[in-house]
Amino acid sequence: MARTVLILGAGASVDAGAPVMNDFLDVSQELLDNNDCDGNEEDFELVFKAISRMRQLHEKVNINVINLEEVFSAIEMGVILGRFGDIEGDELARLSKSLKRVICTTLERTMKFEFAKSDDRLQATEANLRLMGLLKRLEEKNTSKKLRSCVITFNYDLAIDIAFMFRKIDFTYCLDETNETVYPFLKLHGSLNWGKCRVCEDGIGSTTIWEGQTNKDGSHCAKGSPGTASHCGQLTINESVIVSPTWNKLQQARPLRNIWRRAAQELSEAQEIIIIGYSFPDADIFFKFLYALGSDSNTRVRRFIIGNPDESVEEKFRNLIGSGIQQRFEFIPERYNELMLLLNGHQKMTKKYPKFRPLT
Ligand SMILES: [Zn+2]
Repeated sequence: MARTVLILGAGASVDAGAPVMNDFLDVSQELLDNNDCDGNEEDFELVFKAISRMRQLHEKVNINVINLEEVFSAIEMGVILGRFGDIEGDELARLSKSLKRVICTTLERTMKFEFAKSDDRLQATEANLRLMGLLKRLEEKNTSKKLRSCVITFNYDLAIDIAFMFRKIDFTYCLDETNETVYPFLKLHGSLNWGKCRVCEDGIGSTTIWEGQTNKDGSHCAKGSPGTASHCGQLTINESVIVSPTWNKLQQARPLRNIWRRAAQELSEAQEIIIIGYSFPDADIFFKFLYALGSDSNTRVRRFIIGNPDESVEEKFRNLIGSGIQQRFEFIPERYNELMLLLNGHQKMTKKYPKFRPLT
């Protein structure tokens, strides 16, 4: 069997109910208008004030103020430079934190989960149940503990964490020493349920016991609850550890380096690489180098599969990979849910892609 690394981008979370990048801040604005910000109104107001200042700048420079990634980067840069229009002093100091709160709250309020009928666990989405089925199948054929598959994600939300728990698959975020007997789940940009240690400098604690709220329609919103995690024997800071998706992450995210090292190692040993719902934004030089450094090994990549409904993504990835694996490159222009059907060999999709071999 092959060693498989699955890399999941925003497309996987959209399938579980998260807003897409280009709608994200509109959805945040709606939450503010509806008084549904979980007590973070001041943070929402400050972020929208900053965005309106960016609109004014727009006359001079082309910033896409509706795209979350660009807004995140512009705000981080403004904080470092100490300039953001007329936002200064205390407001400027808390702008970056406020944006993180807006992102976390928006994800928490919009991603809704059902309770399983049999017990009180949160139910995974259909597509994520298929992901879990796929992982189980890959591991069943795995006779050597070393040939373990791995899931890497850029997403902050809890949809896949909930799916692991729902299927009772033990997993590790690889935040500290790695436990080789449980499934590695690497969240490269942080997670809603991670909090920084109050004692040691780079420690991060995580929790899987989240607070939440059951809505009138019976659905449930899960809150990351980072303040209930612990590290060095103490509760962690009640602020989710998430980093911006673009250029500045190397500097701001020393605590995440264990995870990135592990991701590079996983990539270097991967025989099948499958990247789903990640559109590889031009600004993401990080992924380019992670991939380059990680794939600098003797392991032969047998398959390199990209799944994305946006067909313009194909060329970006073709340009990323070396000539040696061009022939192993497969592009499937489908969404996460359909890709999970295809990877699992579901008839509906295998008919559409008769040449595609389901994962073995
Ligand atoms: Zn600590």
